[in-house]
Parts: sequence; structure tokens; C-alpha cells
Amino acid sequence: MQLLYVRYLAARPVDEIQCVAQTRRRYRCTSPLLTSESPAGTWRLMPATAADGQLALPADVMAVYDISRLPYAEQLRWRAQRCPQHATTPTAADLAVADFELFDPIRHHAHIHTRLPAPARRPGPASRARQAARP
Ligand SMILES: [Zn+2]
Repeated sequence: MQLLYVRYLAARPVDEIQCVAQTRRRYRCTSPLLTSESPAGTWRLMPATAADGQLALPADVMAVYDISRLPYAEQLRWRAQRCPQHATTPTAADLAVADFELFDPIRHHAHIHTRLPAPARRPGPASRARQAARP
């Protein structure tokens, strides 16, 4: 995932990332970040370059969920890992730590996919099997 000029690895698929805010009932909010009302990012093939640009990588490009073209406030919301409702409720405490970590193309090379996910679907076992079947 690319936002605010930084690439992150999320702990779960884009459409399963859950808000970290605490609700008034003291439970963790169960809303996803990606809702039908909020602007969606775009899967793109982007250069899979290491931070220093020198290291050899298994692939030139990688599939990235790019939200860097969304409004700045939306990118901040994703980085804070809050649903649209809690993005505007700064008084609600975070009940969980955000699941994003800085993407490291060497350490996280298993997450580098050189093909975009099928439209309207997230990468799942089926698409991985299809990739594996290719020569
Ligand atoms: Zn929430």
C-alpha cells in the first residue's frame, strides 16, 4: 500500500483492515477502512526498488494498492487506521495499534506480486494458484 509517499505492508487484505478506534462501549470499532462511501485506491504496478536502489530484487515491479492520489485527509485516515466515522472523532482513543509496517522489499519479498489482482477481487488462493500455474 502506498500513501503519503511511503510504502507500507498491511497485516491483512485491504478490504479487511479494521478501524483501531475505541467505541463508546469500550470495544474496538468493527468498521473497515474501505467503505462504499469512501474513495478507493487503485492497484498499480510500481517499481519494486529497495530504499537505497542498489539491492537486487526478485522483480522489477510489484502490485501496490495506491492511495497516494486520494485527498490528503483520506491518506491520513488510512495511516491512522480509522474508519470514516472515527477519522472525524479524534477524542476516541486507539484500542489497537495500527497494523501497517514500513514495507521492506527484502524482508517482505514474499509479498511482492508482479501482477495486479483480478478486478473487483482481492488476491486470494485462487489467484495465487493461477499465478503458480504459469510457466
Ligand atoms: Zn471506527
